[in-house]
Amino acid sequence: MEFVGVDLGINHLTTLSTGEVFDGAKSYKRYEQKLSRMQWLNRRKQVGSNNYKKAQLKVARLHRKIANNRKDTLHKITTYISKNHAVIGIEDLNVRGMLANGNLAKAIADMGFYEFRRQLEYKTQLYGSSLVVVNRFYPSSKTCSNCGIKKEYLALKERIFKCEHCSFECDRDINASINLEKAAREVVSACGLGSADASRLKQEKSVSNC
Ligand SMILES: [Zn+2]
Repeated sequence: MEFVGVDLGINHLTTLSTGEVFDGAKSYKRYEQKLSRMQWLNRRKQVGSNNYKKAQLKVARLHRKIANNRKDTLHKITTYISKNHAVIGIEDLNVRGMLANGNLAKAIADMGFYEFRRQLEYKTQLYGSSLVVVNRFYPSSKTCSNCGIKKEYLALKERIFKCEHCSFECDRDINASINLEKAAREVVSACGLGSADASRLKQEKSVSNC
């Protein structure tokens, strides 16, 4: 059975425990720069004039293009993951924390995460794979995927995970995704993966009490 852990981040959109990395942010950035330039050029057009209306239409079209582009990227990634793996381990999302965060870039990224999870939920059912949602208190970033020792502190800017205990070194996001894969394995070996298990595992949302 093929297991995979999926880490979602701002640096890379998705990092798999296989080492595969999926980005998307670059193309959004290109469109977003174009959008802000367009809006800046439109700043002196008279409201209600034909030129103004034309400009507004252009802005609206670009907005739609950006939204479609984002959606497309997410769909490609979630289809690939659901189709090619039997069990997928993913971190739970802190929805309350998401809504409380005032940072716009972060909020947009979080919305992407939410959509990502929603797509994985129905696609795993569609393709017959299983989704294991790992308890969000599980420290997937701080734990060494080699020896299992948990760090007390890990700064966000530390891109390479270095374990003081076993000297293991690994890309931070890959380390987290390997831990999520391991957590998914633990859930499946503890709870089994029978006929109704896929949905049950989703409900449990916890490694420790299944
Ligand atoms: Zn270690």
